Amino acid sequence: MKFEARKIRLIMQLRKQGITNTSVLSAIEKVPREKFIPKNFIDQAYENSALPIEEGQTISQPFIVAFMTQALTLERNSKVLEIGTGSGYQSAVLSQICRRIFTIERFKSLLKIAQSKFSISNIHNIVTKHGDGHLGWPEQAPFNRIIVTAASKSVPKNLFLQLSDNGIMIIPLEDEHKNQKIYFIKKINKKIYKEPLISVRFVPLVDGKN
Ligand code: SAH
Repeated sequence: MKFEARKIRLIMQLRKQGITNTSVLSAIEKVPREKFIPKNFIDQAYENSALPIEEGQTISQPFIVAFMTQALTLERNSKVLEIGTGSGYQSAVLSQICRRIFTIERFKSLLKIAQSKFSISNIHNIVTKHGDGHLGWPEQAPFNRIIVTAASKSVPKNLFLQLSDNGIMIIPLEDEHKNQKIYFIKKINKKIYKEPLISVRFVPLVDGKN
């Protein structure tokens, strides 16, 4: 089966799994996932599963990418910050929906690969930064939307501060039993409103850059 046919099958699976937002589905349709994974896994590009990338990290499962993107309730004008660029796939999906995407990764090597994937995919509205995502991007704050794609024990303080009022953050949080859930966070009058969504398995959000 060619990539196109596999992609259509994946989109149908995502619909069945509750991804109904048409701009999210069309973003998934537009981004060539096969370009964002290591060559030896290309056959699995449109399987609904996470895959290993360089530096022992992972490219998230398409359903999780779609679910988190849908939960962000994006608008064309949303200014979005992503923590954990990894393969760059999630950023690429976001870049189809919003005009300005900012993404931070702690591995310089991964960032370089992701940047080359953006340019070969003709994506020019993603700005990248090498650093510790816990610190956010103060020069670019505030952000209307923040998406964290690595699991944290709590909501990083700086990220919450850099969220605009009525801003939304989607983040996997890990409890004391190492169970992880994606949370929907909203900032209302500087206060936090928090709601668990689904159980997940992400690599950890670690301190410092590499
Ligand atoms: N969004 C990615 C998922 C990558 S996995 C994708 O679509 O492929 C999570 C990524 O978070 C890894 O690349 C990891 O290196 C990065 N990461 C972990 N802790 C970090 C931190 N404190 N700051 C920035 N990036 C971090």
